Amino acid sequence: MFENLQDRLGSILNGLTGRGALSEADVSAALREVRRALLEADVALEVVRSFTDRVRDKAVGAAVVKSIKPGQMVVKIVHDELVEMLGNDGVGVDLAAAAPVVIMMVGLQGSGKTTTSAKVAKRLTDREKKKVLLASLDTRRPAAQEQLRQLGQQTGIDVLPIIAGQSPTDIASRAVQAAKLGGHDVVILDTAGRTHIDEPLMVEMADIKKNSRPHEILLVADALTGQDAVNLARNFDERVGITGLVLTRMDGDGRGGAALSMRAVTGKPIKLIGVGEKMTELEEFHPRRIADRILG
Ligand code: GDP
Repeated sequence: MFENLQDRLGSILNGLTGRGALSEADVSAALREVRRALLEADVALEVVRSFTDRVRDKAVGAAVVKSIKPGQMVVKIVHDELVEMLGNDGVGVDLAAAAPVVIMMVGLQGSGKTTTSAKVAKRLTDREKKKVLLASLDTRRPAAQEQLRQLGQQTGIDVLPIIAGQSPTDIASRAVQAAKLGGHDVVILDTAGRTHIDEPLMVEMADIKKNSRPHEILLVADALTGQDAVNLARNFDERVGITGLVLTRMDGDGRGGAALSMRAVTGKPIKLIGVGEKMTELEEFHPRRIADRILG
């Protein structure tokens, strides 16, 4: 996670902290390098631009250049602006609603949606002591329904039994009903994915949303797809409305462009990150910790 950026920023900023005095030209030169490093990490251009502008505004002032440790001050400014860009305080899954709280998971096929649905269920069960019901709404792919059933079995979490011929909205209603009867605190709806965004998918998502009034709509997106993930989030948000994101495959993402741009471009928080295939490999996204990690 973020290894490339960590290396690049580390050496740029070490170049600053290793010196006693700094001129404005030194700071500007370092910022040009920072800009290049962020672009190479696949951070969206608009985000890079406003990030470097904000750092420059703060770092090129006389107070910084004339301070005793100017390099350290620049590093602190970069750190603070990184946190700002990532969305300040982390926000977990919001469960503050009357039970059963409905969480709708949306995203493209192969993004890790089914795996993540089960991971979220396990996390809420283990950490928040919630009783969770999982339901697959992917009526077009029996394999996806079977996958969720198996994950439920493996984790000991309830999965709504399948009734052949039901529509996704029917299944969602039945899931909420079953949760009320079964005393479940949370219902997680694993909706169908497609290989790309298309009109029928968006209509189906909007119908499910209208019908089951989810408290959270979490887009599951593959971090490795970089700016495509950011565009996907923008699209889903415009068409369906999302409350946050789960970025998967962060374990294989050395660049980090999607994670770094997501909040600034879409305004939506990354709530959780997938860091492996195992059911426990899901973490909360904490901007401050991420900034610490990037700046070593
Ligand atoms: P779906 O089609 O969106 O439901 O995708 P799946 O849940 O079936 O996931 C597709 C593949 O991605 C599976 O092999 C998962 O184990 C894998 N996967 C999901 N999340 C992660 C993650 O955070 N890291 C890694 N390395 N693999 C993941």
